[in-house]
Amino acid sequence: MKTIIEPFKIKTVEPIRFTTIEEREDILEKSGYNPFMIHAEDVLIDLLTDSGTSAMSAKQWAGIMDGDESYAGARSFYRFESVVKDLTGYAHIIPTHQGRAAEKILFTLLGGTGKYIPNNTHFDTTRANIEYSGAEAIDLVIEEGKDPETLHPFKGNMDIGKLEQFIRERGAENIPVGMMTVTNNAGGGQPVSMANLREVRDVLKKHNIPFILDACRFAENAYFIKLREAGYSDKSVKEIAQEMFSLADGCTMSAKKDALVNMGGYLAINDPELAQAARNILIVTEGFPTYGGLSGRDLEAIAQGLLEVVDEHYLKYRLRSIEYLGEKLTDAGVPILQPPGGHAIYINAKKFTPHVPAEQFPGQSVVCELYRFGGIRAVEIGSVMFGKTDKKSGEFIPAAMELVRLAIPRRVYTQSHVDYVVELIIEMYKNRNSLKGYRLLYEAPMLRHFTARFEPIV
Ligand SMILES: *Cc1c(COP(=O)(O)O)cnc(C)c1O
Repeated sequence: MKTIIEPFKIKTVEPIRFTTIEEREDILEKSGYNPFMIHAEDVLIDLLTDSGTSAMSAKQWAGIMDGDESYAGARSFYRFESVVKDLTGYAHIIPTHQGRAAEKILFTLLGGTGKYIPNNTHFDTTRANIEYSGAEAIDLVIEEGKDPETLHPFKGNMDIGKLEQFIRERGAENIPVGMMTVTNNAGGGQPVSMANLREVRDVLKKHNIPFILDACRFAENAYFIKLREAGYSDKSVKEIAQEMFSLADGCTMSAKKDALVNMGGYLAINDPELAQAARNILIVTEGFPTYGGLSGRDLEAIAQGLLEVVDEHYLKYRLRSIEYLGEKLTDAGVPILQPPGGHAIYINAKKFTPHVPAEQFPGQSVVCELYRFGGIRAVEIGSVMFGKTDKKSGEFIPAAMELVRLAIPRRVYTQSHVDYVVELIIEMYKNRNSLKGYRLLYEAPMLRHFTARFEPIV
């Protein structure tokens, strides 16, 4: 059979609300033309993020009822700890309320002024936490990873030559940790190969620099390795994931991605002294080490989710749903980042709206029209998120790419939802010349995309 079906049946449903174009125009204006400010109830199909938006399984919900809410030493913590240990092989498992809390703890300990932290591409919260500590976040992804059209099986790979040169120039003593993000979210959800992880490990090891994975989408990355890298087709996804983890000294994790839950995260590390210091911060900022920032029930749901996410029927359906959306858009000539990544399709807004210059935020233009025209919520990943204005010269520095991410929540939407999205975008593409640029009215000093306000340029 050619059709790949959703490997689950639906037990609970949640209605979605239909609105009119006129209602949505009004809503857009009131929300400052920033989809983050729109009430979720006013969204028909929400592709803002795959983070914390997964549908949980019946077993995860059963775990919610079964959670042990004891303050210290809860059974749910030990179940969570044993599942994460079995998967990652790391010695110390520190639960946090989400991924960025793990990052905050890690960089409070390892960051600071004069330090540099390389990664393939830092995700926005990772970059923000590093910069907040005073350190510099450096992206060293391969050149292919920066070009939306180049085909490459592992566009999330790090440029090993650049990494070596970077360590030579800045000095290993100023690089407290090296990171790799799997899959590379900010670079289009593109996977990293096992060979590249091994090379990064070798270079860092030579200089005695610890290696930490940003492992939010480890299972999607592992399945790409199984499909695309020689020597892995007969290995199970779990074995591949275990091998990935074995190359690093620890990981930060947002359980809101590949642990299939709505909240949670962890820091998992081998170094006992670093773990001790991390737990000391955890107690001040998150909670006692056997719950971190989470309830016992959350820990149960994460443990169960980590067992489910490595199921290969699930991963096959997962990657195919993304690829299906990508294929349909490509067939209609809509410019998207190629090849499709693991959790999202990224519209190339530079090409979608070539008449909107970078300083008028082409991605924001596409995002607003997606909502206005079809009630679809997506997110700009371009100059709103990563662009800057030079403080001295006042010059606008655009982001390398102007993308619009259509992130697909896990196990939430069916194929007909995706077909609707495809139809709508194709129609929008036909009328793309009518899309307007936007002017920024308000921005916060950090992570400005969450709260920025805009107005259309008429
Ligand atoms: C989501 C994400 C984070 C941050 O996790 P939160 O749970 O949102 O705090 C870090 N890195 C990557 C690659 C992510 O996708």
